[in-house]
Amino acid sequence: MLHATGSLLTIDVGDRTTVAEDVDDVLSSFIGGRGVGVKLAHDRIPFDTDPFGPENSLFFTTGPLQCSTMSFTGRMNCTGVSPLTDGLLSSNAGGFLSRHFAATGYGAVQVTGRSDDLVAVHVTDEGIEFEEVPQLAGATVTEVGEYMADEHGLGDEQLVVAGPAGENRVRFASIMTTEHRAFGRGGLGAVLGAKGVKCISFAGDSAPDVDIDPIQMDVHREAATANDHPMKSAGTTSVTEYANHVSALPTRYFSELEFEGASDIGGEAVAEKKYKKGTCSQCAFACKLPTKDEETGLETEGPEYETVMAFGSNAGVDDIVSVMKSNDLCDELGMDTISCGDVISAYLAANDEFGNDELVHDLVEKIAYREDEGDLLAEGVHRAADELGVEDWTVKGLEFSAHDGRTLNGQGLAFAVSNRGADHMYAEFYSKEYPLVGKDEAVDPTGLDGKPPLIVAKENHNAVLDSGVVCKFSRDFMTEERLETLLDTEYEKLQDTGAEIVELERHFNNQRGFDREDDTLPYDLPDFEAALSEYYAERGWNDDGTVKSGPVSAGD
Ligand code: SF4
Repeated sequence: MLHATGSLLTIDVGDRTTVAEDVDDVLSSFIGGRGVGVKLAHDRIPFDTDPFGPENSLFFTTGPLQCSTMSFTGRMNCTGVSPLTDGLLSSNAGGFLSRHFAATGYGAVQVTGRSDDLVAVHVTDEGIEFEEVPQLAGATVTEVGEYMADEHGLGDEQLVVAGPAGENRVRFASIMTTEHRAFGRGGLGAVLGAKGVKCISFAGDSAPDVDIDPIQMDVHREAATANDHPMKSAGTTSVTEYANHVSALPTRYFSELEFEGASDIGGEAVAEKKYKKGTCSQCAFACKLPTKDEETGLETEGPEYETVMAFGSNAGVDDIVSVMKSNDLCDELGMDTISCGDVISAYLAANDEFGNDELVHDLVEKIAYREDEGDLLAEGVHRAADELGVEDWTVKGLEFSAHDGRTLNGQGLAFAVSNRGADHMYAEFYSKEYPLVGKDEAVDPTGLDGKPPLIVAKENHNAVLDSGVVCKFSRDFMTEERLETLLDTEYEKLQDTGAEIVELERHFNNQRGFDREDDTLPYDLPDFEAALSEYYAERGWNDDGTVKSGPVSAGD
């Protein structure tokens, strides 16, 4: 099996020590990326860790394909215990960081401990340096980038950064990289902030040689020439109007499924504001969305479709420039746009203020600095719902992304069982269920009959993509056969590896008390309980949502 190489570097920011050790057995069994991050986290983070405690760790990992020139590989992974879900969680960021990480020569980097003083850590192939940075306390993501450029000649694509929200332990703070790219979901930015780490830089010239099949060139060529693909012009927002048309666009804090202003904030509106091509490293598909509003001078990247939902339809806002501004504020302050938009939508629902975009922008800033009502909202929907007097629209504490499961029922089940919570990319089942004309593999979105095995297979497949690391937007190019060839492993074996990764996550979470009671939804689906049991049976788990005989970990 093709896999990442290099040692595991453990950085204890509390006692300022570093250790490099051989983890070849983990790399060769789990490929890289999420697989390696999950295995290391499972075995090295105590099951009873406080997410904000020094014993929690963040594992930064990338995969073997980051040593190729293939499209769809500009991504990397971070794994740790989430302060939002309280479970083990991997988050995946695009941008340009992954190549700089690979260039350090390390296969994985663990950040553990807690520093009393705000610190930056510089990781290179020639050594590791700790730099106290009290002057960066409260600095925005851009300000950190400017400092690192001026003082160290580093580009922001070499950095991971905790914004003010991360320092203030906002439970959905993201780890930012390259200004607008984020390890977004699950609050790992708050874990970095709680460790007293403002920034980590990666640099070097020691990327390993990895022997990758020439098929990578075919994928690259096709990605470059797919000019009629809708994601080339409008990225993820190209689905907005369609999702609205089939009643799958959460609106006004999930109280409706269609938004009358969808066309004002959807694909065409975003494409009009797009002023240049945007991409991740090596990716010729270039689905990113650098946008500019000439009138206000506002520049950002995106919004992506999920942000259009969270700060647009779900907040009752039909102004694309307003959504761009919310997006930009979240990027500057370091917060997940989905969770932030959803919790603000919950506040708007509680106060009958849908559409009040000035209030939305005010709340984004108050959340990041935990001021006034922002302090409650910084806890996320699950912890704030009772006090706000609204329904808890989360799974396992993670706010819902779009692609609503009340219309796309299989995606609904996928939200419920996901170890990460209500995130669309865990199984990404929505992509099978949109009733797109001419899409051979489309599955009827209504009902759950026959879907549990398909969800299991998709979750396993995605766990492998996240380990490779391959962007999931490669779906129209990365066939199972191509994945087999690239990773030099039979597809059945890849499915087994994906299943093992999902099971490790589940086992860790079971030790923290997660079970069937946590695989729930805030709405009913037909034959949901039977489908849940079928899902567990397909995975070989107990009917209470726990794994049968858990893998033994150092945390045991
Ligand atoms: S498809 Fe889009 S998100 Fe994925 S690697 Fe390419 S540019 Fe980045």
